[in-house]
Amino acid sequence: MVGSLTIISSKLSPSQAFQSSSHLFKNLRSCSKTRCFSSSSNSEKKKDVYSPPPLEVPSSFPDWAYEPRDYFRYELVYQSKISNARVGRIHTPHGIIDTPGYVAVATNGALKGVDFRQADEAGQQLVFCNSYHLLLHPGPEIIEEAGGLHKFVNRPDRPLITDSGGFQVFSLAYGSVQESLESEGELKRAKKNTRNDGLTKAGDKPVKVTEDGVYFRSYRDGRKIFLTPESTVEAQKSYGADIIIPLDQLPPYHIDKQKLVESVNRSHRWEARSLRKHLEDVKGQAMYCVVHGGVDVELRTESVNYLTSLPFDGYAIGGSLGKNSEELLQLLDWMMPMFEEGHRKEKPRHLLGIADEKSILGAVGHGIDTFDSCYPTRVARHGTLLSREGRINIKSGKYAKQYGIPIDQECQCSTCQRYDRAYLWHLYKAKEPLFMQLAGIHNIQYMNDLMAKQRQDILDGKI
Ligand SMILES: [Zn+2]
Repeated sequence: MVGSLTIISSKLSPSQAFQSSSHLFKNLRSCSKTRCFSSSSNSEKKKDVYSPPPLEVPSSFPDWAYEPRDYFRYELVYQSKISNARVGRIHTPHGIIDTPGYVAVATNGALKGVDFRQADEAGQQLVFCNSYHLLLHPGPEIIEEAGGLHKFVNRPDRPLITDSGGFQVFSLAYGSVQESLESEGELKRAKKNTRNDGLTKAGDKPVKVTEDGVYFRSYRDGRKIFLTPESTVEAQKSYGADIIIPLDQLPPYHIDKQKLVESVNRSHRWEARSLRKHLEDVKGQAMYCVVHGGVDVELRTESVNYLTSLPFDGYAIGGSLGKNSEELLQLLDWMMPMFEEGHRKEKPRHLLGIADEKSILGAVGHGIDTFDSCYPTRVARHGTLLSREGRINIKSGKYAKQYGIPIDQECQCSTCQRYDRAYLWHLYKAKEPLFMQLAGIHNIQYMNDLMAKQRQDILDGKI
């Protein structure tokens, strides 16, 4: 697949690699203009074709930004000899993240049904909070006044990551917001503020994108909010998470090439602006870029080349990652080798929002270090318990009399140490809130055990 492509070797310096690849962007940009001109000549004279500002070049960022950070670094512990899998440690101001590692998602600054003390006991290191939700409630001002997110949620000695909010904003536009609204209350509010035709109660589109940023309406109260590459960084500075994410544009899965080119270019411009804002005052935070390009080899390659030429602290893989696990693994198969050379190898790689176990296990061999997924806690409250024997659907009557048998015989979590399947079956059927807590603790422990096993298997030469 990769054979016909020119992949810019990352042995080049960041700016050399960028210069070598930037001609393609110029071509794509001029192609975009041609298309726009020809379509506007048919219709009435419209305004002049919008010509986006140029991409910021690596040399426009200060030299010190390319130097190693003293508060954040990736340490390679062991590189597999049979794959790109690697065991490492990410050092952050609030502790270490062993990699490959699972990242639990605490959308509103809380894991569903599980408090951070319990999650910590279940081996949870990095936790992901969503800027979008925190922006709507309680708002960055309150979190800042409380002393930052670590203090506010009382998780003082473990690392946190926040995203830009862009993902949820664009999910609103593409109707998949349900995925990110995890409680029934949130979902009801979102529906109440949206008309049947998909427009908001105020009669406008839920999302409007301009070069400056993106307008959207709060699903909570309908108020209009303008999110920009700079404002998301300001909000994330108020939260103070160890790792932060620049604003990017999430295109829908079905999009033509030209639109995807424009979207990727916009993401690059926005990410560079976020980075510049971040570098004004790093505040002990690390910023990861978000690599885009969908499943398009050419665009992904360009995105890797451009974004890795800028002084980001790590690389998140985002955008459309294919429609299933097979497509994702194919994508990683040709994309991840690009991260194996030169300075790229020295930074952590995060796969954004990948849910299923099959994808996670497959991605480890491609050298992905961290994975965030709300899947384990989301399925827990619907009665799906993860186990070494496969998934257990606790609502099934067959568990009603499984006295003395824990969810998973090998699991050391507090749920498995104390309760059996029969009691969990009863709690679920009786709709007891305690079920969500016990199931959530177990699934988080299961994910962390799974990743610990991956690390051991890499060290043992099995992956
Ligand atoms: Zn357990």
